[in-house]
Amino acid sequence: RLYSEDDLSEGSDILLSKPQAHLLKTVLRLDPGAAVLLFNGRDGEWLAVIEELDKKRGRLRLERQTRAQTTDPDIWLAFAPIKSARIDWLAEKASELGAMRLLPVKTRRTVVDRVNCERLQANAREAAEQCERLSLPQVEAPCSLAELLTQWPAERPLLLADEGGSGAPLPAALKSISPPLGLLVGPEGGFTPEEREMLLQSPAVTPVSLGPRILRAETAALAFLAVVQALVGDGA
Ligand code: SAM
Repeated sequence: RLYSEDDLSEGSDILLSKPQAHLLKTVLRLDPGAAVLLFNGRDGEWLAVIEELDKKRGRLRLERQTRAQTTDPDIWLAFAPIKSARIDWLAEKASELGAMRLLPVKTRRTVVDRVNCERLQANAREAAEQCERLSLPQVEAPCSLAELLTQWPAERPLLLADEGGSGAPLPAALKSISPPLGLLVGPEGGFTPEEREMLLQSPAVTPVSLGPRILRAETAALAFLAVVQALVGDGA
């Protein structure tokens, strides 16, 4: 199953990128005649047949649509970048859990100074291919907390994972909030008191608790997404 940038319609030909040809030929050992599923986030999912394939290039012929495009719950995940292996894992799991946008947010206690967005986008794309979702999460360029709040759409609620704070339990908060919405999780060292103050002053922000235990940042992000999907999304 592959993500394609191309428009998908019956009878059209799709030229494979070099990595896609390598994946199908060398990794999956497919040959012309084999079937492949494609999606692009707009036209649903399509069955395609391999017409030509070698290690560097390939051409698919689209046969028929297998699933119509659906509109996924519009949930964004803003998170303070964490160390590389765990941030890769976070991007993959957030994609499986239906996040539509991944927004790395640099906070005062963020220990990571460079975020490889290209690699995060590749992890999110591979997870989208594997979990059979019909949309592709977009990984945005990192921004500061102040920039996030400035650019945040006023009509989109932003749920702040606020450990040890005054936040309502998540299910209670979700009684009055539904997608489109955003989630925000802090770094390993948490938000500073000043950052927390700034966040709580923003009209879009609602602090919520994820329970009595202090979760690792990546655990908090995924628990957050899973509960929101289960209660107001399309299921975890
Ligand atoms: N402030 C603590 C520290 O200095 O280690 C914990 C930070 S925690 C590891 C990282 C982030 O996960 C927090 O900023 C918060 O967004 C989220 N988080 C962790 N446990 C949580 C909980 N029980 N309720 C709400 N958010 C939580």
